[in-house]
Order: sequence, then structure tokens, then C-alpha cells
Amino acid sequence: MEFCPKCGSVILMNDKKASCARCSYKPKGTIKIQSTESIAKGSGIVIIDERKANTNPVVQIKCPKCKNNEAYFWTLQTRSGDESETKFYKCKKCDYTWRKYR
Ligand SMILES: [Zn+2]
Repeated sequence: MEFCPKCGSVILMNDKKASCARCSYKPKGTIKIQSTESIAKGSGIVIIDERKANTNPVVQIKCPKCKNNEAYFWTLQTRSGDESETKFYKCKKCDYTWRKYR
């Protein structure tokens, strides 16, 4: 987690851009992020690889179709950053996929 050097708030990663949650400060340098992101050199833009298949965490939730109790879980952020993210679930057993708005 990164913190804004101006106001100390958390730096948010949103649509591949980083900015401070409170004062909208944008870091110029690269931001350290754990895992597999690649960084476009010189531009300071962090490119996040597309989420790879089968790396989604499994959560315990009941499938509305087959009542299985385990499903893959991931979220997608809508384009306008102030809308809440959409949660997706995919049943481990029958591959049924459904979504949940917050
Ligand atoms: Zn199912």
C-alpha cells in the first residue's frame, strides 16, 4: 500500500492510474506493486496484466443454480471511479456465473 506524500492518504489504483484518495495527488514515479504487473519504462504508467484465468480466489457462497457451496470470485470496477465495484461469482461445479452489486 502506498501513501500520498502530500496529505498522507492512501494512494488508490484506479483504471491503471494512481491517485490520492483525498487530494488527487498523482505520483510521478513508478509505484511498487506486488505480483506480476509490468511497468512501461519512462512513462511512469503502471500496466496491470489482464487477470489470468483460474487465479481467482474461491469463496464460500451458495450457487443459485445447483446449490454448490464454492464459487470463484472476482470484481470489476465500472468506468466512472465513484461507482461501486461489481462482484462476480462463478460456480466451481456447474460454471454458472452471476453478479452482485453492492
Ligand atoms: Zn452451480
